[in-house]
Amino acid sequence: MPELPEIAVFARDMQKELLGRRISGIEVLQPKCLNVPEEAFEAVLTGADIVAVTPHGKWIQVETSQGWLLLNLGMGGEILLTDRDHLPEKYRLIFDLADGQCLAVNFWWFGSVHYVKQLHEHQQVSALGPDVMSLTLDDFCALLRGRRGGVKSFLLDQKRMAGIGNVYAQDPLFKARIHPLRAINTLSDDEIQALYHAIRETLQESIDHGGAAYELNLYGEHGGWDNSFLLVAYREGEPCPTCGTKIEKIKTGSTSTHICPSCQ
Ligand SMILES: [Zn+2]
Repeated sequence: MPELPEIAVFARDMQKELLGRRISGIEVLQPKCLNVPEEAFEAVLTGADIVAVTPHGKWIQVETSQGWLLLNLGMGGEILLTDRDHLPEKYRLIFDLADGQCLAVNFWWFGSVHYVKQLHEHQQVSALGPDVMSLTLDDFCALLRGRRGGVKSFLLDQKRMAGIGNVYAQDPLFKARIHPLRAINTLSDDEIQALYHAIRETLQESIDHGGAAYELNLYGEHGGWDNSFLLVAYREGEPCPTCGTKIEKIKTGSTSTHICPSCQ
């Protein structure tokens, strides 16, 4: 499932490639992914110029001259910059560009391709907390202050801050030596600060390497952030890189978390 780094890489590459280009046609093979009737969607976005592409959590926000196109890959999917002669085997939607290239969008399961005239009209995006990478340390402390409940479920709550899923929650908790079930109101200032820096470091490392290796980018290439970057995540039974204790997998609400029982 794409998380913040993969979405940030898509948005960065789309911004670079699509700025100022015009959508000349739209082909929808899966109308269920739209939030408006197919005809209305095609009518309003055909002829639109792309103004900017920005990430917000797991959403890609494409600002156009005629409103906002919002993409969410759901459990996974691809956005490929290609042309009609080189379409991927599977796609749910195509945006033709005026110069002959196109964007082919595919979902492994369900995804969303939404249109709104104004960004604040979009219920799901407006309900999101700030994008994690946009937070300063002060913002992060303010978000956590006075909160009850476990620290990991807080990190995953997209309404508090957007972008972190199960893959990128685990190693930052390990780096900050915090057990995922710790109550937020028991964390010291030093621990909160360590967690903030660990989250940024892990996300930035993945962004710098083009996102997770199991996801494809805009050019159909795999990201470079592979399993070798994982510290404890998905390493059940292996030795902790710090102290050598066996890494355990524990249940944390609806998700599992890998931890070092000595370090955390
Ligand atoms: Zn350890």
